[in-house]
Amino acid sequence: MQIKDELKEVFRVVASEIPDPKDWIHYLKPSIDKNWYTNFGPVNEDFEERIKNKYCEKNEVAITASSATSALSACLISEGISGEVLCPGFTFQATASSILGANCNPIIIDVDKNSGVVSPQILKEGFLNSKAKAAILLAPYGISVDFHEHEKICHEMEKILIIDNAAGLGIKRESKFFSGSYENVIEVFSLHATKPFGIGEGGLIIAPSSKEFSIRSAMNFGLQTHANTGSTSSPFWGINGKMSEFHAAIGLAVLETIDKRIFQRQEMAKKWIDSLINIDLNLNIFTHEIDNSPWQIFPIVLESEKIVEKVLKIALKNKYELRRYYYPSLGNCHGMKSIGMCENSNNLSARVLTLPVRSWIKKNDQENLITSIMDILKEGYG
Ligand SMILES: *Cc1c(COP(=O)(O)O)cnc(C)c1O
Repeated sequence: MQIKDELKEVFRVVASEIPDPKDWIHYLKPSIDKNWYTNFGPVNEDFEERIKNKYCEKNEVAITASSATSALSACLISEGISGEVLCPGFTFQATASSILGANCNPIIIDVDKNSGVVSPQILKEGFLNSKAKAAILLAPYGISVDFHEHEKICHEMEKILIIDNAAGLGIKRESKFFSGSYENVIEVFSLHATKPFGIGEGGLIIAPSSKEFSIRSAMNFGLQTHANTGSTSSPFWGINGKMSEFHAAIGLAVLETIDKRIFQRQEMAKKWIDSLINIDLNLNIFTHEIDNSPWQIFPIVLESEKIVEKVLKIALKNKYELRRYYYPSLGNCHGMKSIGMCENSNNLSARVLTLPVRSWIKKNDQENLITSIMDILKEGYG
């Protein structure tokens, strides 16, 4: 879809980028031939194998899921986690949903006031001040985080570390972010239509190979059938978290073009950075390193919540639907128990505004789009 078509109506901050049916339907042939449409079928197997070759380290396995939310739940279930689980206040609601979905209780902890990431110090204090045996931490907006310290803390305290990197699939996974040397770290991605690696609904778990059996079991009602061992080890129950063959077929088509897509998204992110640092407004960005994210959206932190609300209104008048994301802060959601006041989470969550990133916009249209939104920002601050 061209930008002009979109502009007839409201221009939305996120838009799906699903391949044309003719580009993915042929991938479905093995499952049609076998009359097998889910439950770790042939297309899914192929998709997982290619994902593994592209994104995994030697000792890791790629396991697809029906969504990131079910994938996160399955990670907790497969580890036999019960009771409290640490969860950042600054994240998308799904992080907490996945904990509730695994029959556990989120304990909200605060984040660093600039990066929006749970600091190693806060993580350690969270474990010391709760009964949590696991934490789900966030790589905000799919921007890669150096988790080496967090990994080490979890290793030493014998905790499970699950990384919600929902928006982060599509860039290289590198040792500058993880050591990969501990058995207690699992990373989860979303393949939701609005994420850079969008297929409709879908999730991906990248875990140490040793966890493959228990995670698959947790995503298939806790049945141990596919290994056929009659094993009596946990998980004893599970959910239906499996990816269908249709989604895997779309995934195979997305894999063909993902590098180009991400390159174009990063180019547009760079344009945002160049424009934002050249205007004299009191706002922050999370990173200047465009290679560290596939850029689902471009997040900025405005001076105040009041300005966010004002900018949203002006944008809508001009037919741009900009959006708040990770709002409200989870500590403010009814019934969530938190450690401390989570002031940084509340503060960031109130001030973030997300700007559109597209891989398919023509250069001219892109420039016009950025100029218009910069004008809207200026008016909001005025
Ligand atoms: C999108 C998102 C999710 C949910 O992903 P689904 O695949 O839709 O379940 C979870 N966490 C974060 C941070 C997200 O942005």
